[in-house]
Amino acid sequence: MMKPRNFSLGKAFEIEWEDGHRSVFPLRFLRGNCPCASCVNEITRKRVVTENDIADNIAMEDFQKTGNYALSFLWSDGHFSGIYSFDYLRKLCQCEECRSKH
Ligand SMILES: [Zn+2]
Ligand SMILES: [Zn+2]
Repeated sequence: MMKPRNFSLGKAFEIEWEDGHRSVFPLRFLRGNCPCASCVNEITRKRVVTENDIADNIAMEDFQKTGNYALSFLWSDGHFSGIYSFDYLRKLCQCEECRSKH
């Protein structure tokens, strides 16, 4: 499993991975891809809350490591139940290189 080496929170949330790769996640995009059970139906796996449901001015109040495998975020809309595994975050990377692999 690829692990992050560094995080930074600004206008976007950035992860620098241990292989040197950098992922930049726009906050609204990240919030709109929350993997928790109220954002994704657990049975059908269908996404219930999408980026379009999220306010443009969504902010991240805080973030923390969960165990040794994931991050969780506290959003300005009060949502905090999403646990974003490192694997999931790496797959979410929107850079050209990663997008061309999918
Ligand atoms: Zn969620
Ligand atoms: Zn990437």
